[in-house]
Amino acid sequence: MDYAILGGGALGLMAAYRLSQAGQSVMLFEQEPLAGGLAAGFRIDDIWLEKFYHHLFRSDTTAIRIIEELGLADRLAWIRPRTVSRKKTRRILIETAQLRKALGSRVATTP
Ligand SMILES: Cc1cc2nc3c(=O)[nH]c(=O)nc-3n(C[C@H](O)[C@H](O)[C@H](O)COP(=O)(O)OP(=O)(O)OC[C@H]3O[C@@H](n4cnc5c(N)ncnc54)[C@H](O)[C@@H]3O)c2cc1C
Repeated sequence: MDYAILGGGALGLMAAYRLSQAGQSVMLFEQEPLAGGLAAGFRIDDIWLEKFYHHLFRSDTTAIRIIEELGLADRLAWIRPRTVSRKKTRRILIETAQLRKALGSRVATTP
């Protein structure tokens, strides 16, 4: 059977991928020059940025499995993000782990 998929966002791309894995013929139509939909990126010089911010948690096991299945696991980096704010002249770094404990109960400061 031939399939036509309208939209090359995450859903359309995944549906096309699974259908083609199942030996089906798929034609995917995307109106934008770049696939990805809401999760697409754009390039500034040699840096790729997201159109909208996204995050991936270790508990997002389905997404992680798909990344592995696509052979991209070596490009997945688990970093420790910091929330930074300013109080007068001092920069205040709030570690993620600290945020987990009752917001701001342990705040590290730098000069
Ligand atoms: C600010 C923000 C933050 C988010 N953060 C997260 C996150 O952290 N984690 C998470 O899991 N999700 C997050 N999401 C949600 C996630 O981005 C979407 O759920 C997902 O990208 C939706 O994919 P989709 O394929 O269903 O739809 P879309 O991404 O909307 O894709 C639809 C595609 O169809 C195309 N299209 C539409 N009409 C036509 C047409 N007539 N002809 C051809 N092409 C057409 C569009 O151009 C688009 O590329 C976030 C979303 C936003 C806005």
